[in-house]
Amino acid sequence: MLRLLQDEGEAKQVIDDTVDDHEDTERNPFIFCCRCDAQLTPAATAVLIADKHEHVFVNPSGILYHIRCFKQVAGCYCHGDWTPEWSWFPDNAWRYAACSGCHTHIGWEYDGGFFGLIAERIYEGEH
Ligand SMILES: [Zn+2]
Repeated sequence: MLRLLQDEGEAKQVIDDTVDDHEDTERNPFIFCCRCDAQLTPAATAVLIADKHEHVFVNPSGILYHIRCFKQVAGCYCHGDWTPEWSWFPDNAWRYAACSGCHTHIGWEYDGGFFGLIAERIYEGEH
């Protein structure tokens, strides 16, 4: 079950605001790719999954991932087949998500309609 930190109207407003360049706007944070600085998604698309925005998981190879959950990530593309195997969210199958700018593996899309992005590969900043 998804719960938006801000409602979708506000998220859309953030996107609309980027069109015109007035300087007196409030903070307008976005999530960016660490490697290529591509803009991935407004920070307002952050969601709580299982009551938390950030999660720490260990994959079957023993690699620890710190992930942050977002409702949508327009700046990435998804690839691979959906699979429920080893899913960190037992109700949700996953597939890979990569940065549209540099093709870095940036996280995973889950079939419940959200993304988990690898915290060390993204940063939050101003547009
Ligand atoms: Zn990138």
